[in-house]
Amino acid sequence: MRLYSTLQREKVELPPPPGPIRMYFCGPTVYARAHVGNARPFVLGMWLRNWLRSRGYDVTLVHNITDINDKIYRAAAGGSSAELAERATRWYLEDVADLGLGLPDHLPKATESIPQIIGFISELIGREYAYDADGDVYFRVSRYPDYGQLSRQCIDEVEGQDEEDVPNPRKEDPRDFALWKANKPDEDTSWDSPWGPGRPGWHIECSAMAEEFLGPVFELHGGGLDLVFPHHENELAQSRALGHEFARIWAHNGMLQFTGEKMSKSEGNVVTIRDALNRWGRETLLLFFLTGHWSKPLDFSEETMARMGPVRRRARGRLQHGGSPGGHARLA
Ligand SMILES: [Zn+2]
Repeated sequence: MRLYSTLQREKVELPPPPGPIRMYFCGPTVYARAHVGNARPFVLGMWLRNWLRSRGYDVTLVHNITDINDKIYRAAAGGSSAELAERATRWYLEDVADLGLGLPDHLPKATESIPQIIGFISELIGREYAYDADGDVYFRVSRYPDYGQLSRQCIDEVEGQDEEDVPNPRKEDPRDFALWKANKPDEDTSWDSPWGPGRPGWHIECSAMAEEFLGPVFELHGGGLDLVFPHHENELAQSRALGHEFARIWAHNGMLQFTGEKMSKSEGNVVTIRDALNRWGRETLLLFFLTGHWSKPLDFSEETMARMGPVRRRARGRLQHGGSPGGHARLA
């Protein structure tokens, strides 16, 4: 079995059964009902796990819940961000459970991994890959010459990673990215750290959770193509800076498009997983996800979903729990 990997830019052979195959798929940031595009990496991860198991592989799938993030503070709009994250986590788990594919082996939350995250950051600072700046901690991109290898950018061409348009004076270099963010007055949750109260950045959450459950080297990292840069580039840099090989294969799924445009909350063209389940049912939805190659964009529309009806009747046997993707999902 070979899978196309973004890192090597070619198909990479999986080890023979029984493996092990250790997989990490980036999960949702929980602040609202997840949209149907969020279900694609979940479905692909679950289907791949179940299919590999049917071939005799020993597989572990980790799918994280990002329950600390700027978007959650913003969406809570003065209310409790922790309560919002908890509620949205419950919605997500109910929605994906109703897809009927089972659940990943581990569903770690960032809020439950704070000690591991702080340990990771401390080690990066100890090796001068990161620095404390008034309670924020940043990764020092210039110290890691391989930066850009995943997204195929030369380190000198990488653009700044300032979250706002104004340059951040606390950074040594605009390319540096936050590992820890000092608590701000409008943020109602924070954690103690050696650098003062604050919370982790998104990228370090995933590096720490992946290594906590899978170890410093694992076979496969999945997620949407929109995560290649900066999220996955930064995960790879953080882990490899410490000498960890981290993921060997990086499999990115194409985005869901809504009449030709990327489906996203900011575009205002969102259909939630719950809406889609209510409207078309889980079998039609699963078939839709398996119609194209996983690395290509997939068009979601009334017409596409209507076309799934007859296909569903023919393919019923393959949609049972734990079934193989058969001829529908072209995985390699
Ligand atoms: Zn991630």
